[in-house]
Amino acid sequence: MKIGVLALQGDFDAHRRRLEQLGAEVTLVKKPEQLDAMDGLVIPGGESGTFLKLLGDEGFAKLKQFVTEKPAFGTCAGCILLAKEVENPPQVGLGALDIRVRRNAYGRQLESSIREGVFNHKPIEMVFIRAPKIVHVGEGIEVLGTEGTDPVLVRKGKTMAGTFHPEMSDDKAVHQYFLDLVAGQR
Ligand code: GLN
Repeated sequence: MKIGVLALQGDFDAHRRRLEQLGAEVTLVKKPEQLDAMDGLVIPGGESGTFLKLLGDEGFAKLKQFVTEKPAFGTCAGCILLAKEVENPPQVGLGALDIRVRRNAYGRQLESSIREGVFNHKPIEMVFIRAPKIVHVGEGIEVLGTEGTDPVLVRKGKTMAGTFHPEMSDDKAVHQYFLDLVAGQR
């Protein structure tokens, strides 16, 4: 299984390490044409506005085509990119998931925090860094992870998005879930 990690900016290397620990063949994707050979893609955290700038119109179009056709998992800024609607401030999204996200939703006081949430009915550590909040989920969106009453990990079909950083915790369950999804076992 060939998994790409979008490596324009941000937290891509921790994803690479985690996916390799789990046996995936990982490519750091820096050029849009590299996407053609990938079976799935992780879009890491970082700064979503910067991702958009670095992608440019052509990169955005290519990425949009990829996430429409193939499995993708976005964390934090990656979650923002995959969303249909983005606020605070408004920004274009790839529209792969019918969710509305509010950027930097926890404010200055809570810029970064480690909290316990629930993933797949089990407690799990969740690292939040200038995290967005999923403020609306559309029809057919499955909530896989929650923190308090907030949905923090969602999925529809082959597309997954989380507002936290699973690559920063020791627990490998979230990445394993994505690999199972790419393999058609979820
Ligand atoms: N605050 C960033 C954004 O709005 C996301 C932060 C992150 O990816 N850790 O894009």
